[in-house]
Amino acid sequence: MFLANLAKLRTLEVVTATPDASSTHDTRSAALFHRASKVTPGGVNSPVRAFGSVGGNPPFFASGSGPLLTDVDGNTYVDLVCSWGPMILGHAHPAVVEAVRSTAVAGLSFGAPTEGEVELAEEIVARIAPVEQVRLVNSGTEATMSAVRLARGFTGRSKIVKFAGCYHGHVDALLADAGSGLATFGLPTSPGVTGAQAGDTIVVPYNDLDAVRDAFEANPGEIAAVITEAAAGNMGTVPPVPGFNEGLRGLTREHGALLIMDEVMTGFRASPTGWHGIDGVSGDLMTFGKVMSGGLPAAAFGGRADVMAHLAPSGPVYQAGTLSGNPVAVAAGLASLRAADADVYAALDRNAETLGRLLGEALAAEGVPHRVQNAGTLLSVFFTDEPVTNYDQAKAAQTWRFPAFFHSLLQRGVYAPPSAFETWFVSSALDDDAFSRIADALPHAARAAAAATAP
Ligand SMILES: *Cc1c(COP(=O)(O)O)cnc(C)c1O
Repeated sequence: MFLANLAKLRTLEVVTATPDASSTHDTRSAALFHRASKVTPGGVNSPVRAFGSVGGNPPFFASGSGPLLTDVDGNTYVDLVCSWGPMILGHAHPAVVEAVRSTAVAGLSFGAPTEGEVELAEEIVARIAPVEQVRLVNSGTEATMSAVRLARGFTGRSKIVKFAGCYHGHVDALLADAGSGLATFGLPTSPGVTGAQAGDTIVVPYNDLDAVRDAFEANPGEIAAVITEAAAGNMGTVPPVPGFNEGLRGLTREHGALLIMDEVMTGFRASPTGWHGIDGVSGDLMTFGKVMSGGLPAAAFGGRADVMAHLAPSGPVYQAGTLSGNPVAVAAGLASLRAADADVYAALDRNAETLGRLLGEALAAEGVPHRVQNAGTLLSVFFTDEPVTNYDQAKAAQTWRFPAFFHSLLQRGVYAPPSAFETWFVSSALDDDAFSRIADALPHAARAAAAATAP
């Protein structure tokens, strides 16, 4: 019925095509990117924003409201990035903005305890059963970095197992990434990560329990933790195969290691209780960020009380932060989580399903090989006919079709993630107008993807 409404809307409405900021050089976005490139490496403060893998210059955004973003040239876009996950309610949600405003006028930071921190911690503990205690930090990177240190401090062991294609922030030890099929030991993928930092990281293929078993057998008594994305979203959306997370739970227990479930992307998004609410597997430690921040810098790690008790000041494992639990950030996160009620999650489900269906229909109509993969309300599209269960398969897809697909959408006012390896994020604010614009843009984008040629 929803789609029937859409079809009707589509015939009634003329959607204004919005020019692609990257296609001309005389836009305000282009001028800003030029200025930015002089004072900031690559012109951006986080690499994928630079459009490196799709070409062109990024639009600079001036404002966002509900499902829409407006750039500095006045073009509007339906937002399918949502700040890489946080904005599940859409932009400038009144309850979140009001919480930020009223908190900010009472003072921005005290470097001392505030009530909001307690409330946010209580909200997280109430929602996520395995989390008994939580420590607030400023970014997902800090959360995973601290969780790894705590796991090492708790177990007295050094080594960490991570999965190729899983991203846990830019923590030195976690940037190690074999990127090829078989387990590779500690090859840093970024200059600046030393052999010592990467040498304790064992990288194995995602969804491969045998490789994890082998790693435990090859390193008896040495592995502090296995860290995994609860459902992988940083190589495109690649959910764990049935039994994978349970298998990790079993193997870590059997070998006296901790399981760190990284829910920075999935937490409070894949379901009201994150991916944990979908497969029920408990990490000893879990990490959160993105949605729980409401769009300001806030993140958290938490888990078993006996493990968290090893954290300073109750225990010896040091971790700290001048702005941790910042009152304004905490207020935004709390307001956002409180506004994310059953209706919001129902809308997210519906919107993810509709977007996935529209993507599939448009690409099928043009005969483009594709798979739309979901993990709860996370989704992405791979240009391949085969299921994608690990990083090698993700890289083997026809990613060269993506730049044309992406730019065609952007030109028609649909802002998708500027990389073939990123999850698409829906908000509960996507409405019929937004979907009508998406539905109008997709056939053009699918034709562009079909016409793209392999390098
Ligand atoms: C985004 C992300 C991080 C890092 O969070 P930042 O706030 O960008 O540092 C860590 N883990 C996962 C799974 C993520 O998606």
